[in-house]
Amino acid sequence: MHQKPDGDAMGSSLGLYHFLKALGHDVTVISPTNWANFLDWMPGCSEVVDFEQRKHYALDIINNAEVIFCLDFNVLHRTKHMEQPLTDAKCTKILIDHHQQPQEEAFTYGISDTSKSSTCEMVYDFIMSSGHADLLNIAMAECLYTGLMTDTGSFRFPATTASVHRMAAHLKETGMNHTKVHESIYDSFLENRLRFIGHALLNRMEVLYEYNTSLMYITRADLQKFDIKTGDTEGLVNYLLTIQGIKLGAIVIDRDEERKWSFRSKGDFDVNTFARKHFEGGGHKNAAGGRSSESLETTVKQFKEIIKAYHNQLQ
Ligand code: 5GP
Ligand code: MN
Repeated sequence: MHQKPDGDAMGSSLGLYHFLKALGHDVTVISPTNWANFLDWMPGCSEVVDFEQRKHYALDIINNAEVIFCLDFNVLHRTKHMEQPLTDAKCTKILIDHHQQPQEEAFTYGISDTSKSSTCEMVYDFIMSSGHADLLNIAMAECLYTGLMTDTGSFRFPATTASVHRMAAHLKETGMNHTKVHESIYDSFLENRLRFIGHALLNRMEVLYEYNTSLMYITRADLQKFDIKTGDTEGLVNYLLTIQGIKLGAIVIDRDEERKWSFRSKGDFDVNTFARKHFEGGGHKNAAGGRSSESLETTVKQFKEIIKAYHNQLQ
């Protein structure tokens, strides 16, 4: 899975983990970095190896693997320090992913489908067509439902097809408790995170009406003051698009090593291309990420200059 895994990365990896284990395989899930606490409840999560915490152990597993499944990313640099070990690994590498422009030469086999709502949906399709659909159980269902729910914005983004709803119905038939999944993900924060959101919305948001764009920047001091942990900033960017008429939401967070951008759009504005062109990133048409090695102030200034050229596209 990609670094700082989200619900879809963790859910698809653990969903596949439970399925392959049910088939009798010896399986290890490795995350390139730590992850948000709100994923900890997921069945199997306590077994996931954090590459940064247990590097030697993880390298041993990678070097001795017969097959490596690469889930919810399609370019190896999204696995941070695992990029080199994955490049060097001689085993069969299988990609299952829904982002644009895969690094095809990095994988032995793969399925890359940008029309899919989530990698969880693709793992579900894989299980259903494997000849072992009967193995689907509550643990797999909870993991796969997680990514289906988070990557569709709780079943509202355009990729929420009839098949997505059919899949949700089928997962439900295993006896899975979808309320538990939803509450575990969305209602398990600490007070400080809500205070932080209040601060960010009040003091760190700018609305550029001329460009139908809303911008937010989070300083390092903000992160420290509110004791912000991995995952606490997830979803913040979505608030920007709740303002009437706003087509582009952009947030930049001053992380230790880099300034991390998240972009969200409505309609035709393609943030994947935008992030690729200006912020060393990518993703999907309506949700993408990027980065900058400039200071927070400089990268915000650059953003404001860059969007001038998109004035017409943003009308
Ligand atoms: P987020 O803003 O939540 O970090 O990312 C939004 C979407 O863009 C996610 O699907 C994520 O996987 C993808 N994404 C984020 N950063 C990058 C990046 O640097 N490169 C690519 N190709 N995709 C990214
Ligand atoms: Mn995904």
